[in-house]
Amino acid sequence: MGLEDLVPLEEWGIAASKPLVIAGPCSCETEEQMHDTAMRLKNTGVSALRAGIWKPRTRPGMFEGIGNEGLGWLVSAGKATGLPTAVEVANAQHVEDSLKAGVDILWIGARTTVNPFSVQEVADALQGVDVPVLVKNPLNPDLQLWIGGLERVHAAGVRKLAAIHRGFSSYERSEYRNKPMWELPIELRRLHPNVPIIVDPSHICGKRSMIPAAAQKAMDLDFDGLMIESHRDPENAWSDAAQQLTPEALSDVIKNLVIRSSRLDHQAEDALSVLRGQIDRIDNYLLELMSERMGIARQIGEFKRDAGVTILQTGRWDEIVRDRVKKGAEKELTEKFVLDLMEAVHKESIRNQTKVMNEDKG
Ligand code: PEP
Ligand code: MN
Repeated sequence: MGLEDLVPLEEWGIAASKPLVIAGPCSCETEEQMHDTAMRLKNTGVSALRAGIWKPRTRPGMFEGIGNEGLGWLVSAGKATGLPTAVEVANAQHVEDSLKAGVDILWIGARTTVNPFSVQEVADALQGVDVPVLVKNPLNPDLQLWIGGLERVHAAGVRKLAAIHRGFSSYERSEYRNKPMWELPIELRRLHPNVPIIVDPSHICGKRSMIPAAAQKAMDLDFDGLMIESHRDPENAWSDAAQQLTPEALSDVIKNLVIRSSRLDHQAEDALSVLRGQIDRIDNYLLELMSERMGIARQIGEFKRDAGVTILQTGRWDEIVRDRVKKGAEKELTEKFVLDLMEAVHKESIRNQTKVMNEDKG
């Protein structure tokens, strides 16, 4: 299903300048908090005002959102600042209530994108409605599920459509609340180059201090915009207190962003293409070498088969890993890189050897 006929972000009528920044509190709490935060966000380079009205929480008993009453507060804060407003919707009722209240932009949260039934319900409620919709990635690193969410909303007729990258939850400990795994949004852009991608450093980082670097990284990777949580009194926020910035701190983050051009002049283009040529040559050489290495692995497989020994000789593998990591370090290659590389090579060798060992002798 194509996502080719989207309205470009610049034509949505909301982005004053690149990057598009959507900011506002994680949750709308009180009329005053919403209004005060919004007024302080005005004239900071923010292009739209966000707030969560219905909060999908991991555990019951946490603040689950102020509900419908807050929609009016958000919309009037939008009017007071002249900023369009954005809200998270998770079901048909949310869509209906938000649109009735006059909210301008809707987004689907990570806990909703994981469930195609819910996304479909939201999509059905969007039939015939010309409103921008942003689809956050699902909690788990599943690009197809993310694309599926975008396609469901697109099939409902929405053409002002964008993705939000908010990182992926993982069982492993990490300095991030949700690992950025930049390769996933990069792959999304490769597959669907005209889907704008907005990065949400707040939910990626989970803590204030890391937000500036993640926002800059998003810009350096040439993504289209940012969604950042901002609260007038972050420490006392009713949800996500650790990852919200005051409007003034957010203003500094925006001011300090270095926006580099993705275009080069001819001279730079030529110099770059020489370097790219060298990379291509090295990659081709690498593939030749790998192919040669696998040929030898197959010969070893034949040898082991004829000698009747197992494929995996643990001592030998251990020795290889140690040796390669050490040599890699001498060449300024990180241990992690060398380990990942050797593991991938080893896996392919074992695949080759297994094939040989299970072939009939002679
Ligand atoms: C949010 O934006 O406040 C939110 C709940 O985010 P996510 O869906 O990315 O967890
Ligand atoms: Mn939040």
